[in-house]
Amino acid sequence: MFHSSYIEISESALKNNLDYLRNRFGGDVIFSSVIKGNAYGHGIENILPLAEKYGVNHFSVFSANEALKALKYRTNGSEIMIMGMIDNEQVEWAVENGISFYVFEKDRLNSAIENAKRLKTKAKIHVELETGMYRTGFEESELDEINEIIKKNTEFLSVEGICTHFAGAESISNYLRVKNQMKLYSRMVRKIQKSGLIFKKCHVACSAAAIRYKRTLMDMVRIGIAQYGMWPNRETFMHDVSEQEGDEYAVDPLNRVISWKTNVMSLKEIPANRFVGYGTSYLTNTKTTIATVPVGYVHGFNRNLSNLGKVMIHGKHVPVIGLVNMNMMVVDVTNLENVQKGDEVVIIGNQDGNELSVSSFSELTNYLNYETLARLPEVIPRFVVD
Ligand SMILES: *Cc1c(COP(=O)(O)O)cnc(C)c1O
Repeated sequence: MFHSSYIEISESALKNNLDYLRNRFGGDVIFSSVIKGNAYGHGIENILPLAEKYGVNHFSVFSANEALKALKYRTNGSEIMIMGMIDNEQVEWAVENGISFYVFEKDRLNSAIENAKRLKTKAKIHVELETGMYRTGFEESELDEINEIIKKNTEFLSVEGICTHFAGAESISNYLRVKNQMKLYSRMVRKIQKSGLIFKKCHVACSAAAIRYKRTLMDMVRIGIAQYGMWPNRETFMHDVSEQEGDEYAVDPLNRVISWKTNVMSLKEIPANRFVGYGTSYLTNTKTTIATVPVGYVHGFNRNLSNLGKVMIHGKHVPVIGLVNMNMMVVDVTNLENVQKGDEVVIIGNQDGNELSVSSFSELTNYLNYETLARLPEVIPRFVVD
């Protein structure tokens, strides 16, 4: 074993989530699997082929380099859509490879047209509208001009979608803002339709919007976190559960796809009254058995989990003591019997009927599910399991 920890990707969990979500959203809604951030830490090379196997043929990435990776792993001509960064220099490559991309400024629109002209083909674009997120997107006041430019160049442009993104659909405290975004979006889409511009799809929903607001489903949804078996936040889970009927006890319909495991590196007995690790953040009260675990902040195990985090050994939660180091941490296994060097350590996942979830992990820090996952470095090997 040339690695200090490894990640397992559960094929059956991913299938379960895709089935549940597509069934919930309905068969007419295209499911775009969001695989930015290395597929939320799961690995594009794992998630894309599995999702394709279960019928997904639309993938969303943030940037051109992620699109390049998606292109490498797709097997059946699935659509690849760039929602964020692409340099004008990469536009030619995208157009050539039939990769669609968001357009939210004239500069990129012009670049799309120029490159499509040169290649004698059509650039596939998604026109992003500013509806209140205030990040990227065309303003309502720019719409007439943009419509005209696009209509003049229909020979070189295929408008795949008209889209926007919500500024926090997961939280009821943003309700008014999201509602206003929907209103403005609808008004802008009507203007575009009136102008006679032809486009293929309307798409606005991320996981939270698609789960909470049926009206946002439209022609396509862009689903990230939920397909990996996690809820955008607890509120979204409560919303989903409240819609379940018949069950006396609500069940979580999503299954966690990722597990992260390693093995005990070494064991040691420490007398009472000794500081463990760097500095003075942990003092033993009694004779203590420690296990070193070869995972540290370089691997994405947050240093804020020093003296706070937990891992599982023999199906029991054991506390991290002292500071999380760059490549390892120390856990207290005094209360476990017969722990051996090489025993399995679960950082995220199940062991002997107990679980450490990503959210239990994130709740102890300021990190979201999203961030905890996305920080898992690409160098940790990932294996697809059932
Ligand atoms: C990340 C992202 C999504 C997916 O969000 P989830 O909450 O993970 O479902 C959808 N749309 C855009 C534009 C995004 O950046």
